[in-house]
Order: sequence, then structure tokens, then C-alpha cells
Amino acid sequence: MVQTVYLDYAATAPMRPEALAAMTTELATVGNANSLHASGRRARRVVEESREAIAAVLNVQPRDVVFTSGGTEADNLGVKGIYAMRRLKDPNRRRILTSPIEHHAVLDPIESLGESGGADVRYLFADNVGRVDLDWLKVELERDSELIALVCVMWANNEVGTIQRVAEISELCKQFSIPFHCDAVQAVGQLPVDASLVDSLALSGHKVGGPIGVGALVLRPGLNPVPLLHGGGQERDVRSGTLDTPAIAGLAAAIVAANGDMAERTTRVRSLRDDLVERVTGTIENVTRNGDPDDTLPGVANLSFDGCEGDALLLLLDAAGIECSRGSACTAGVPQPSHVLLAMGLDPQTARSSLRFSLGMDSTQADVDRVVEVLPDIVSRARRAGTPRSPKDIK
Ligand code: PLP
Repeated sequence: MVQTVYLDYAATAPMRPEALAAMTTELATVGNANSLHASGRRARRVVEESREAIAAVLNVQPRDVVFTSGGTEADNLGVKGIYAMRRLKDPNRRRILTSPIEHHAVLDPIESLGESGGADVRYLFADNVGRVDLDWLKVELERDSELIALVCVMWANNEVGTIQRVAEISELCKQFSIPFHCDAVQAVGQLPVDASLVDSLALSGHKVGGPIGVGALVLRPGLNPVPLLHGGGQERDVRSGTLDTPAIAGLAAAIVAANGDMAERTTRVRSLRDDLVERVTGTIENVTRNGDPDDTLPGVANLSFDGCEGDALLLLLDAAGIECSRGSACTAGVPQPSHVLLAMGLDPQTARSSLRFSLGMDSTQADVDRVVEVLPDIVSRARRAGTPRSPKDIK
């Protein structure tokens, strides 16, 4: 039987034992955190202790943490809720400044606000390693600050790993009193994240070794986005829905554990990732690395394999038991180049030849050795198959 080598931590990470233990204990226990009886009060205590633990790791107050159903909901609430709040106060504030390399959980709500919510969306420039141009941001803020509703820039990119200069962006936004929403889904657990730097921060359970389907929006005190979900108003009246106590307990346990072993774990993961990149680029011709080589998430390596179709590589690797990913989806069977790589200036064919390997807590030297062993032959086979032309290229 082929041993599976899992190198797709940025898509979802295995549950940490601490999270699994906390969650399974709660799954076996009854209690709605909003009920007044003893079972309800017990569940409430678990929720509030989880909130306190997460807040302490992120350097904010417990009341700033609003639990959600995951990163996507947290991003939607941050983006749409703050936009609506700002427009209610001042209808002229229609502009959203964002980067072209955001995750779709940010890009798509922004686009929908542009299509049907009256928003004037402006994309900042990202350079060839995926760093957002802060001079450009400064010019935009200086020129039109009274028209801007919010700024949305992610902490670290999910496809190439590039880390943004969040403290500087925060400083600029503060100068002009513009709320800054930051998608930190890939950063939490991998980097020290000080959520007090930003006004609104999204995080997700399953990227830190917690469960899928839970996350949080961390909001600066006094910032009250217009809710997306209406109902019981369980979370500060900003978010409704019965709280998922087991998932929240698992999320908190994962974040605390990830914070506890961050230095040791990320040093090990970074050195495995660097070994992978060095040996793959050293043994296979015409492989290039995408993203910022210095300021990057410890586990992410995005590589372009000239002359290959990324999906072909992915399937051949999967057949060999190695699981990694492409940054972008396939539309109607036609591989689409990643919007992140295109925004970084790659041509569509090179962007389509790219794969993301993402390592994490349980990754081993044997995993890396296996990739290095099988990849040269797989790349040769994929190169022989060539790259399909996109319908646009077919005259
Ligand atoms: N933002 C980023 C950067 C992500 O990588 C992801 C998930 O891939 C999300 C948001 C969405 O998070 P969730 O899967 O919890 O909805």
C-alpha cells in the first residue's frame, strides 16, 4: 500500500490532539450556552474560557472575539458589515481598497458589494513576490480618505505564503481613521499575530489544528459591523446562531497549543520546507519558486514547473500518494490560472504550471525525501504530456 504524504496543510491541517480531546469532551455533554440552567451555564463557561484563551494569545480583550462558522463567514462579516456600517454613517464612503491577491472569502464579498452594493472597489498593486505596494496605499489614502469605507489586506497569502507589512498598513490606516480588515486565516498559529494592530481580523479553526466549521472575527472595541445573520444576537448582537460549544473549545485548545509550540514547530517546518525547495529546484530544471523567499509562511512552497500542467502534476503526485494542491479551481474542466500568481505578474501558462506544497506539524524528513524521489519522473511525464491551450488561445 502506498503511504500517504500529506502536504496540504494550508488547505486544512489535521486536528491537534489537544483540540480533539477538548472537542470530544464537549461533544459528549449537553448544554446551550444561552440557557440559564446548570447545563447551559456550564456550556457558557466553556465558551467564555475559550474566548479568554484566544484573546490572550492574540493580545486583545475577550469581548473583542466574535465566534463564527469559519474564516469565510468572518471575512464576509468583516467586509460587508464594516462597509454597511460606514455607509450608514456617511453615504459618501463607498470606496474599498483591497489587494488583488486576497482569498476569495474576501475578494468575492467585495466584488458583490461592487456589483450590487454601490461600492467603488480599487485594487492595490502587488509586486512580483506578492507584497502589497504601501506607497500606492498611502497615495490612495492621502488623496481620497473621506471617500474610503475600509481597507482589506490579508496577513499572509494562502497560495504563495507572502507575509504583508501589517504594522505599517495599520499605521497608515490609523493616520486617516480608516478601518482595516485583515484576513489572518493563514497567519494565526504560524506567526505571532497581534490582533490589536488591526480593526477587524478573521481566523479559522481548521488551519490551526482545530475543527472545520468554526472561526472568529476579532473586532476592535467600539467597531460594530452591521450583522449578516439576524436571530438571537448571541455574539454581541453582531452575529446570531447557537454557539457550537464543542467546536469553540477545540478552536481555543488548538490556538493555545499552536502558540505554545510555535517557535520550535515553525523552525522545524521551515527547515523541511527549505530542504524541499532546494532539492527540487536543484534536481529538476526550470522550476521557479513563487512568493517572497524571505518573508513567508514557514510551511508554504509554491513552485512553477515550466512546460507542465499543474493539474497533471497534481494527479500524478496523488497516484504516488503525495497530496498537495493547486492554488486555483478548475472551471468547466479548464484549468484556470491562479488570480494570485497572475496579479504577481506571471503569465497564464506559468501560473497554470504551479503547485503549492504546504507542510505542518506532522510533516517529516521522510515526506520531503519521498517528494524529491518521485518528482523528477513525474515532471518528465507531465512535460511530455505538455500544457493544454486555453480556449482563448485556440483561434
Ligand atoms: N482566508 C484564507 C486566506 C484562507 O486560506 C481560507 C481557507 O482556505 C479562508 C479565508 C476561508 O476559511 P474557511 O475555510 O474557514 O471558511
